[in-house]
Amino acid sequence: MAERYSRQILFPGIGREGQEKIRSKHVLLVGAGALGSGNAEILTRAGIGKLTIIDRDYVEESNLQRQQLYTEEDVLQKLPKAAAAEKRLRAINRDVEIEAIIGDATPEVLEELANGIDLIIDATDNFETRMAINDVSQKYRIPWIYGACVGSHGMSFTILPGTTPCLNCLLRTIPLQGLTCDTGGIIGPAVQMAISHQSAEALKILVEDWDAVRSTFVSFDLWRNEYIAMKMSKAKFSGCLSCGEHPTYPYLDKENMTKTTVLCGRDTVQIRPSAQGELSLEKLASQLGSLGYEVKGNPYLLSVELGEERMVIFRDGRALIHGTKDLTHAKSVYQRIMG
Ligand SMILES: [Zn+2]
Repeated sequence: MAERYSRQILFPGIGREGQEKIRSKHVLLVGAGALGSGNAEILTRAGIGKLTIIDRDYVEESNLQRQQLYTEEDVLQKLPKAAAAEKRLRAINRDVEIEAIIGDATPEVLEELANGIDLIIDATDNFETRMAINDVSQKYRIPWIYGACVGSHGMSFTILPGTTPCLNCLLRTIPLQGLTCDTGGIIGPAVQMAISHQSAEALKILVEDWDAVRSTFVSFDLWRNEYIAMKMSKAKFSGCLSCGEHPTYPYLDKENMTKTTVLCGRDTVQIRPSAQGELSLEKLASQLGSLGYEVKGNPYLLSVELGEERMVIFRDGRALIHGTKDLTHAKSVYQRIMG
């Protein structure tokens, strides 16, 4: 394996010392979609020590156009993205410890995962989770890298607690809420560009080359040939509730946690039950089968169909109701199927 990282060690910004630092680090990757796939692959190939990946979704055919870790076989098996990513990443580099979590990155879960993490990479598709990552980053002093992508447009910003403004500060100048959950499609090159910005910053942080870390907010559009890098040092706000003088970390407040969520850009609603606990998928499959539902599954989830209704239920009790954006309708489908 001496040759494995030779090109990266030859690169002056990393060197042998940097390689050893990369090897000793633990990154938390929130989301295993397009940005998550690319960041995970680059860090795994670069020889990161440990990668924890959390994702709540499973692989579908429409993901294959841009989510580079997944295959047609993963679609056929309806594998959860975290499980499919783990399988692929292990095949790429068996020296990297991969921890795959199939579940929702709630504030509670993110706080539990924060211990021992050197860096968080944002590969989510929603505002709520990003703001929770931002508060966890400030509370536990963990750097994080924001990234977003839609159409041919993407953005990235690196947040170092105590040094840079945080995402909550940025909201005063950039309307980031409006840029998520777009249904206008997306092209692979924009994804790759966002991944490149995030993973380059990740390598700098992992080798502790703080002077090299980008301080600007980057925004690009590959179709319109635009590239903007905005200085953000003045955006730091002393009254910020996440990074200011008297932080309250508002996005870690459990009251703020929604139980029912419309998933970004899709006709899908997620329902998270209030009671925690493992479901027996085997038992549920036979019950629903005897009620006339068409049930398919794998060790991680069940896919249930009856007429127009389609629902996927995970072992932790979380359900994705497809074909609707209506929360009330989704809840009634859930209750009808789950009894
Ligand atoms: Zn702030």
